Amino acid sequence: MHPHGATGPLVAALDIGGTKIAGALIDTEGRPVVRSLRPTPPGGDGETVMRAVAEAVAELRAAPQWSAVVAVGIGSAGPVDALHGTVSPVNVPGWRDFPLVPRVGEAAGGLPVVLTGDGVAMTAAEHWQGAARGYDNALCMVVSTGVGGGLVLGGALLPGPTGNAGHIGHISVDLDGDLCPCGSRGCVERIASGPNIARRALESGWLPPAGTEPTAAAVAESARGGDPLAVASFDRAAQALAAGIAATATLVEINVAVIGGGVAGAGPVLFDPLRDHLSRYATLSFAAGVEVVPAKLGTDAGLVGAAAAAAQGLGLSGFVAG
Ligand SMILES: [Zn+2]
Repeated sequence: MHPHGATGPLVAALDIGGTKIAGALIDTEGRPVVRSLRPTPPGGDGETVMRAVAEAVAELRAAPQWSAVVAVGIGSAGPVDALHGTVSPVNVPGWRDFPLVPRVGEAAGGLPVVLTGDGVAMTAAEHWQGAARGYDNALCMVVSTGVGGGLVLGGALLPGPTGNAGHIGHISVDLDGDLCPCGSRGCVERIASGPNIARRALESGWLPPAGTEPTAAAVAESARGGDPLAVASFDRAAQALAAGIAATATLVEINVAVIGGGVAGAGPVLFDPLRDHLSRYATLSFAAGVEVVPAKLGTDAGLVGAAAAAAQGLGLSGFVAG
C-alpha cells in the first residue's frame, strides 16, 4: 500500500452540485489524496459558475501529485448529456446545455474527461468501495432532496448513452398521482424525497417536535417515537421506493438495492416498511429476495464514483471493482 497514492495513477474527480463544487485526486484504492472545495455561486451565470470549477481544478493542479493524474471524472447534478459533454442541472440555473466537458478539459491541460450524472457516480462508488461491492447486478439510489440512482448490470456500471441511466426518481409509481416538476405524474421522487415526506406529514396534521424545523429528519424522529402521522408518511415513501425497486428487479434482475442520501439516515423507520412493501411488489421468483441495504460511502461517494466511472469509461485498470 502506497502512502497517499505516492505511486500509481490518479484520477482527478469533480462532484458538482447546487451548493458545492468538490474536487479531489483519487488513488487506485478510492482514497482522496488532495482535495479542493468551492461553493457553487448561487444564481451565478454560466461563466461565474465555471470560474469556481476552474479554481477547484487549478487548486488540484497545483499539488505535486498532479503529475500522476491520467484522467478527469465529473459527477454532476442532472440532467447531464455525456454524448455532447453538456450539463443542465436543475439546481444550477446558469448552466443550460453548458459545455462542461470541453471547458474542464481546457482547465485540466487537455486530459481526457468523462462526465456522468451524480446518481451514476454514486453507484460506481458503492460498487467499487461500498455496499454494492461484490454484486454484479445492483440498483443504487440516493434519497435526499431529490431521488436519483444508477445501475450495475453484468458486473459493469451502466451509465447509458447520456449518463443518466437508472434515474429511478422519475419512474411513475402512481398513474394519476401528483404532478412532478419533471412533467410526469406520481414519480418516486414526488412521493419519497425528503421534502415530500415532510410535506405529506404536515398536510396530514403532523407537527414537528418543539424547536425543530419540519424536515424529513424531524418526521423520522417523530416516527421513531411512534407518531402515527410520521410513521404513515415514511410508510408511503417506503411504498413508492419499493414499487420502483420491484419494477427495476423485474425489468433487469438485480440482487441488491443500495439506498443512500439523507433520508436513508432515518434507518429502520424507512428500511423496515421498505422491505415489507418490497415483499408484496417483487413477487416473481427472479425478482423476489432482492436485498435492501444502506449505502456505505458518505459525502465522498460523488468524488470516488466520478473517478471510478471515468476509469471504466476510459478502460483504465485499477479503479473499478475486480
Ligand atoms: Zn418526475
